[in-house]
Amino acid sequence: MSISTAAKVLAGAALGAQAVSYVFNSHEELLRPPGTPGTIEGEAEFAARCIRCGKCIEACPYEAIYAYKSLTSPSAGTPVLDTRSKACRMCHDVPCVPACPTGALHDVEKPEDIDMGYAILDHEICISFKGLRCEVCYRACPLIDQAITIDYRVNENDSLHSVFAPIIDEEKCTGCGLCVERCITDEPAIRIVREGWELRESESDEWVPSARENLEGPRGEGVWM
Ligand code: SF4
Ligand code: SF4
Ligand code: SF4
Repeated sequence: MSISTAAKVLAGAALGAQAVSYVFNSHEELLRPPGTPGTIEGEAEFAARCIRCGKCIEACPYEAIYAYKSLTSPSAGTPVLDTRSKACRMCHDVPCVPACPTGALHDVEKPEDIDMGYAILDHEICISFKGLRCEVCYRACPLIDQAITIDYRVNENDSLHSVFAPIIDEEKCTGCGLCVERCITDEPAIRIVREGWELRESESDEWVPSARENLEGPRGEGVWM
Protein backbone atom coordinates (compact mmCIF):
# COMPACT_ATOMS: atom_id res chain seq x y z
CA MET A 1 0.00 0.00 0.00
CA SER A 2 1.39 3.39 -1.00
CA ILE A 3 1.82 6.13 1.57
CA SER A 4 -0.96 8.21 0.01
CA THR A 5 -3.37 5.22 -0.04
CA ALA A 6 -2.53 4.46 3.58
CA ALA A 7 -3.14 8.09 4.46
CA LYS A 8 -6.55 7.95 2.75
CA VAL A 9 -7.47 4.75 4.59
CA LEU A 10 -6.43 6.31 7.89
CA ALA A 11 -8.35 9.49 7.10
CA GLY A 12 -11.41 7.40 6.17
CA ALA A 13 -11.15 5.43 9.40
CA ALA A 14 -10.81 8.66 11.37
CA LEU A 15 -13.88 10.11 9.64
CA GLY A 16 -15.83 6.94 10.34
CA ALA A 17 -14.81 6.97 13.99
CA GLN A 18 -15.75 10.64 14.19
CA ALA A 19 -19.16 9.88 12.65
CA VAL A 20 -19.76 7.08 15.15
CA SER A 21 -18.65 9.38 17.94
CA TYR A 22 -21.08 12.07 16.75
CA VAL A 23 -23.96 9.66 16.63
CA PHE A 24 -23.11 8.17 20.00
CA ASN A 25 -22.97 11.62 21.52
CA SER A 26 -26.00 12.85 19.68
CA HIS A 27 -28.24 11.60 22.42
CA GLU A 28 -27.96 15.33 22.99
CA GLU A 29 -30.85 15.17 20.50
CA LEU A 30 -29.50 17.82 18.22
CA LEU A 31 -31.99 18.93 15.61
CA ARG A 32 -30.33 19.25 12.22
CA PRO A 33 -31.27 21.55 9.33
CA PRO A 34 -33.56 20.43 6.49
CA GLY A 35 -31.95 17.88 4.22
CA THR A 36 -30.73 15.71 7.08
CA PRO A 37 -32.93 12.65 7.47
CA GLY A 38 -34.19 12.55 11.04
CA THR A 39 -32.79 9.08 11.66
CA ILE A 40 -29.69 7.60 13.31
CA GLU A 41 -28.38 6.66 9.85
CA GLY A 42 -29.14 10.16 8.59
CA GLU A 43 -27.17 11.65 11.47
CA ALA A 44 -24.19 9.37 10.75
CA GLU A 45 -24.19 10.38 7.10
CA PHE A 46 -24.51 14.04 8.05
CA ALA A 47 -21.65 13.78 10.56
CA ALA A 48 -19.37 12.23 7.97
CA ARG A 49 -20.09 14.92 5.38
CA CYS A 50 -20.52 18.18 7.30
CA ILE A 51 -17.32 20.25 7.27
CA ARG A 52 -18.77 22.96 9.55
CA CYS A 53 -18.38 25.63 6.90
CA GLY A 54 -21.51 27.50 8.03
CA LYS A 55 -22.92 27.96 4.51
CA CYS A 56 -26.36 26.69 5.57
CA ILE A 57 -26.28 29.10 8.51
CA GLU A 58 -25.54 32.02 6.17
CA ALA A 59 -28.25 30.89 3.74
CA CYS A 60 -31.09 30.85 6.29
CA PRO A 61 -32.97 34.15 6.02
CA TYR A 62 -34.63 33.60 9.40
CA GLU A 63 -31.42 32.83 11.32
CA ALA A 64 -33.02 29.61 12.46
CA ILE A 65 -29.78 27.63 12.05
CA TYR A 66 -26.80 28.25 14.29
CA ALA A 67 -23.48 26.58 15.06
CA TYR A 68 -23.70 24.26 18.05
CA LYS A 69 -21.61 25.64 20.89
CA SER A 70 -19.82 23.19 23.16
CA LEU A 71 -16.32 22.85 24.57
CA THR A 72 -16.59 19.08 24.89
CA SER A 73 -19.00 17.73 22.28
CA PRO A 74 -17.69 16.34 18.99
CA SER A 75 -20.72 18.05 17.44
CA ALA A 76 -19.40 21.53 18.31
CA GLY A 77 -19.61 23.84 15.33
CA THR A 78 -22.13 21.72 13.43
CA PRO A 79 -25.42 23.35 12.37
CA VAL A 80 -28.43 22.90 14.65
CA LEU A 81 -31.83 24.42 15.36
CA ASP A 82 -33.54 25.21 18.63
CA THR A 83 -37.16 25.37 17.54
CA ARG A 84 -38.39 26.84 20.82
CA SER A 85 -36.28 29.93 20.06
CA LYS A 86 -36.56 29.98 16.27
CA ALA A 87 -38.31 27.36 14.18
CA CYS A 88 -37.67 26.53 10.55
CA ARG A 89 -40.07 28.52 8.36
CA MET A 90 -40.08 25.87 5.62
CA CYS A 91 -38.96 28.36 2.94
CA HIS A 92 -40.50 27.64 -0.46
CA ASP A 93 -37.02 27.21 -2.02
CA VAL A 94 -35.36 25.69 1.10
CA PRO A 95 -32.12 27.69 0.50
CA CYS A 96 -30.12 26.04 3.29
CA VAL A 97 -30.01 22.72 1.41
CA PRO A 98 -28.42 23.80 -1.92
CA ALA A 99 -26.03 26.04 0.05
CA CYS A 100 -24.33 22.95 1.46
CA PRO A 101 -21.17 22.27 -0.57
CA THR A 102 -20.64 18.68 0.56
CA GLY A 103 -24.08 17.11 0.23
CA ALA A 104 -24.46 16.80 4.01
CA LEU A 105 -27.84 18.44 3.39
CA HIS A 106 -29.54 16.91 0.40
CA ASP A 107 -32.67 15.59 -1.33
CA VAL A 108 -35.02 18.42 -0.41
CA GLU A 109 -36.56 20.21 -3.37
CA LYS A 110 -39.70 21.54 -1.77
CA PRO A 111 -40.74 22.30 1.80
CA GLU A 112 -42.86 19.15 2.08
CA ASP A 113 -39.69 17.07 1.50
CA ILE A 114 -38.24 18.30 4.82
CA ASP A 115 -37.96 15.48 7.34
CA MET A 116 -36.01 16.78 10.31
CA GLY A 117 -38.09 14.78 12.77
CA TYR A 118 -41.63 14.90 14.05
CA ALA A 119 -43.57 16.52 16.86
CA ILE A 120 -44.65 14.72 20.00
CA LEU A 121 -46.97 15.95 22.73
CA ASP A 122 -46.90 15.82 26.49
CA HIS A 123 -50.51 15.26 27.45
CA GLU A 124 -49.69 16.19 31.05
CA ILE A 125 -48.72 19.72 29.98
CA CYS A 126 -50.90 20.41 26.94
CA ILE A 127 -53.96 22.32 28.10
CA SER A 128 -56.10 20.77 25.38
CA PHE A 129 -56.05 17.56 27.35
CA LYS A 130 -57.42 19.41 30.37
CA GLY A 131 -60.68 20.42 28.75
CA LEU A 132 -59.43 23.86 27.64
CA ARG A 133 -59.36 25.08 24.09
CA CYS A 134 -56.03 26.17 22.63
CA GLU A 135 -55.19 24.97 19.10
CA VAL A 136 -52.24 27.41 18.85
CA CYS A 137 -49.92 24.71 17.55
CA TYR A 138 -52.55 23.62 15.07
CA ARG A 139 -52.94 27.15 13.67
CA ALA A 140 -49.15 27.67 13.57
CA CYS A 141 -48.50 24.56 11.51
CA PRO A 142 -47.61 25.25 7.84
CA LEU A 143 -49.20 21.88 7.09
CA ILE A 144 -52.39 22.56 9.00
CA ASP A 145 -54.92 19.73 8.69
CA GLN A 146 -52.17 17.51 7.32
CA ALA A 147 -49.40 17.31 9.91
CA ILE A 148 -51.72 18.37 12.76
CA THR A 149 -55.42 17.89 13.04
CA ILE A 150 -57.71 18.53 15.99
CA ASP A 151 -59.60 15.60 17.41
CA TYR A 152 -62.76 16.94 18.99
CA ARG A 153 -64.28 14.68 21.59
CA VAL A 154 -66.66 15.02 24.47
CA ASN A 155 -64.92 14.03 27.67
CA GLU A 156 -66.91 11.06 28.85
CA ASN A 157 -65.62 11.46 32.39
CA ASP A 158 -67.03 14.97 32.67
CA SER A 159 -70.08 15.91 30.63
CA LEU A 160 -69.33 19.64 31.07
CA HIS A 161 -66.11 19.54 29.07
CA SER A 162 -65.01 18.73 25.59
CA VAL A 163 -61.48 18.00 24.43
CA PHE A 164 -59.86 19.56 21.37
CA ALA A 165 -56.71 17.51 21.23
CA PRO A 166 -53.97 18.06 18.63
CA ILE A 167 -53.13 14.92 16.68
CA ILE A 168 -49.81 14.70 14.85
CA ASP A 169 -49.27 12.68 11.71
CA GLU A 170 -45.63 11.61 11.99
CA GLU A 171 -45.41 10.86 8.28
CA LYS A 172 -46.52 14.33 7.21
CA CYS A 173 -44.90 16.34 10.01
CA THR A 174 -41.59 17.83 8.79
CA GLY A 175 -40.23 18.64 12.24
CA CYS A 176 -40.13 22.36 11.42
CA GLY A 177 -40.98 23.18 15.02
CA LEU A 178 -43.33 26.12 14.46
CA CYS A 179 -45.72 24.38 16.83
CA VAL A 180 -42.97 24.23 19.45
CA GLU A 181 -42.03 27.90 18.99
CA ARG A 182 -45.65 28.99 19.46
CA CYS A 183 -46.83 26.59 22.17
CA ILE A 184 -48.35 28.68 24.93
CA THR A 185 -47.19 26.72 27.96
CA ASP A 186 -44.04 27.81 29.84
CA GLU A 187 -42.50 24.43 29.35
CA PRO A 188 -43.56 23.55 25.83
CA ALA A 189 -46.12 20.76 25.63
CA ILE A 190 -44.87 19.81 22.21
CA ARG A 191 -41.38 19.11 20.94
CA ILE A 192 -39.52 17.62 18.01
CA VAL A 193 -37.83 14.24 18.12
CA ARG A 194 -35.87 12.42 15.48
CA GLU A 195 -36.72 8.91 14.44
CA GLY A 196 -34.73 6.34 16.41
CA TRP A 197 -33.79 8.74 19.20
CA GLU A 198 -35.11 7.17 22.38
CA LEU A 199 -36.83 9.33 24.95
CA ARG A 200 -35.08 9.49 28.27
CA GLU A 201 -36.58 6.92 30.59
CA SER A 202 -37.85 9.54 33.01
CA GLU A 203 -39.82 11.17 30.19
CA SER A 204 -41.24 8.13 28.49
CA ASP A 205 -44.49 8.09 30.48
CA GLU A 206 -45.47 11.63 29.58
CA TRP A 207 -44.21 12.13 26.05
CA VAL A 208 -46.18 10.16 23.53
CA PRO A 209 -44.67 9.30 20.14
CA SER A 210 -48.11 9.65 18.65
CA ALA A 211 -50.95 11.47 20.32
CA ARG A 212 -53.33 9.34 18.29
CA GLU A 213 -52.14 6.18 20.04
CA ASN A 214 -53.12 7.75 23.32
CA LEU A 215 -56.41 9.01 22.10
CA GLU A 216 -57.33 5.62 20.80
CA GLY A 217 -56.82 4.10 24.24
CA PRO A 218 -59.70 3.73 26.64
CA ARG A 219 -60.77 6.96 28.31
CA GLY A 220 -59.72 7.46 31.89
CA GLU A 221 -56.25 5.90 31.49
CA GLY A 222 -54.53 9.11 32.45
CA VAL A 223 -55.07 10.83 29.13
CA TRP A 224 -58.40 12.41 29.91
CA MET A 225 -58.56 14.71 32.86
S1 SF4 B 1 -35.93 26.03 5.16
FE1 SF4 B 1 -35.60 28.25 5.38
S2 SF4 B 1 -36.09 28.74 7.54
FE2 SF4 B 1 -35.82 26.50 7.37
S3 SF4 B 1 -33.68 26.19 7.97
FE3 SF4 B 1 -33.76 26.26 5.72
S4 SF4 B 1 -33.35 28.42 5.18
FE4 SF4 B 1 -33.86 28.35 7.41
S1 SF4 C 1 -43.33 20.34 13.48
FE1 SF4 C 1 -45.31 21.10 14.16
S2 SF4 C 1 -45.70 22.89 12.89
FE2 SF4 C 1 -44.08 21.71 11.85
S3 SF4 C 1 -45.12 20.34 10.42
FE3 SF4 C 1 -44.89 19.21 12.35
S4 SF4 C 1 -46.80 19.58 13.44
FE4 SF4 C 1 -46.65 21.15 11.85
S1 SF4 D 1 -50.06 25.07 21.69
FE1 SF4 D 1 -49.26 23.77 23.32
S2 SF4 D 1 -50.82 23.78 24.93
FE2 SF4 D 1 -51.79 24.57 23.04
S3 SF4 D 1 -52.73 22.75 22.09
FE3 SF4 D 1 -50.69 22.96 21.20
S4 SF4 D 1 -49.35 21.67 22.47
FE4 SF4 D 1 -51.26 22.01 23.61
